[in-house]
Amino acid sequence: MTSLIMIFGATGDLAKRKLFPSLYRLFEKGKLNKFAVVGVARRSLSTEEFQHSVKDSVLSALGKKDRIDEFISHFYYQSHDVSDSNSYAMLKNLADEIDERYQLEGNRIFYLAMAPEFFGTIALHLKSDKLTEVKGYKRLVIEKPFGHDLASAIELNKQIRSAFLEKEVYRIDHYLGKEMVRNIEVIRFANAIFEPLWNNRYISNIQITSSEVLGVEERGRYYETSGALRDMLQNHMMQMVALLAMEPPINLSTDEIRSEKVRVFRALRTVEGEQVNEYFVRGQYGEGTVEDVQVPAYREETMVDKESNTETFVAGKIMIDNFRWAGVPFYIRTGKRMSTKSTKIVIQFKDIPMNLYYQTEKMLNPNLLVIHIQPEEGITLHLNAKKAGGHLDAQEVKLSFANTGIHAMNTPEGYEKLLLDCMRGDATNFTHWDEVAYSWSFVDKISAVWESTKADYFPNYQSGTMGPKEVDELLEKDGYFWWPVT
Ligand code: NAD
Repeated sequence: MTSLIMIFGATGDLAKRKLFPSLYRLFEKGKLNKFAVVGVARRSLSTEEFQHSVKDSVLSALGKKDRIDEFISHFYYQSHDVSDSNSYAMLKNLADEIDERYQLEGNRIFYLAMAPEFFGTIALHLKSDKLTEVKGYKRLVIEKPFGHDLASAIELNKQIRSAFLEKEVYRIDHYLGKEMVRNIEVIRFANAIFEPLWNNRYISNIQITSSEVLGVEERGRYYETSGALRDMLQNHMMQMVALLAMEPPINLSTDEIRSEKVRVFRALRTVEGEQVNEYFVRGQYGEGTVEDVQVPAYREETMVDKESNTETFVAGKIMIDNFRWAGVPFYIRTGKRMSTKSTKIVIQFKDIPMNLYYQTEKMLNPNLLVIHIQPEEGITLHLNAKKAGGHLDAQEVKLSFANTGIHAMNTPEGYEKLLLDCMRGDATNFTHWDEVAYSWSFVDKISAVWESTKADYFPNYQSGTMGPKEVDELLEKDGYFWWPVT
């Protein structure tokens, strides 16, 4: 690949923990033929100092690396004020010069790894200060969150689209870089034993859990304006719902896959007004013990309001009103300070019509297909088989596939794959504007209710648990329960 990668926010946490190590791995694998990186941030640093910090981040993420000095020699730095045209003029000169030196064919990737309030301003300046006037391709990679609600997302999109075409915009959802999220499509569409059953005749419900043990850490200021609904549900959880629910695309092109995902969003049952608290449960963590450590309540965290109404947990029932899914609940739950770190999808199949194998009072276990997204990667299929011995008793057996090869490689959360996709010009695993817009309009109706009614019952779950008790009731009402994720 041949490209100049310009990282805005190059001294930030994301750049250090994810982007630099991912770029090194691409470099090491020979995926970056001709490349240079220009780091842009507020702090005043020399290029040498910047190169040292890149080296530190790569070595601390990946251990000793022989070609590190060669790698960092491709890195340059400019101290930058995002709202000042002079800064962009200097950046343009630097970029043109580097383009020439490394023969980068005018290919440019602008990666915005900084606070979202600057996204629009930067995009506008890139155009007005002519950094986008290149003879190669120009692409904009943009981190989450994409807006705060539908109105702000529309505004941001307008600013971005005045400088870039939709096909040049790569909206990152790092879940779409995860190996097993990408695998959902293959498991579904490459197996004769799943696709014919993948509908409301054979599936009773689908459960998606993404639990974290960490609290809000130092991100209290941001999180207070976001909450679990915006931070996790609007993007990552909804993307997984779309991949699980979409119709088979006619081919694997970006446009076809996106259009099938969008059709799922269009079929989402709107939940508003009084229905919100029937379909969704919000929670906020109180103090408790997580992995043997005593931790404070959310309201005691730094930069958090002592009476905060922000949810650190959300669970809900999502219905997709189309032929394939009518009547099948997609239950989702996600939150901070839960008992375990895990992202898993459980597909529960319907019971067989009649059970011939009653073992005393016990019913047969339903068939489950479990997709393990993180930390383990793999799939487990739960079946019933004969218990060894004389009687015709059935017992549960599990067929498991663990993606150990990939896990051992410890891919830095998919950023490596997403960066490579972007350089290749493959936008399939990035979020299209239509998906963002539909998803916000779904979420906005929930936040409208939650923001206008104070949750005087907060905190309502203890740190180190799987959320408030109402979350179990959400499924019990329908005759189901959450399958354990550990
Ligand atoms: P950060 O606060 O650690 O870094 C921000 C960067 O922006 C720094 O390099 C800083 O110098 C630069 N910056 C801030 N104000 C500036 C200004 N006025 N002019 C020029 N530069 C300025 O933030 P982060 O954690 O790296 O996150 C960056 C983006 O990535 C955010 O949109 C965040 O939501 C998203 N994100 C981060 C993570 C993560 O793991 N850190 C994960 C997912 C998404």
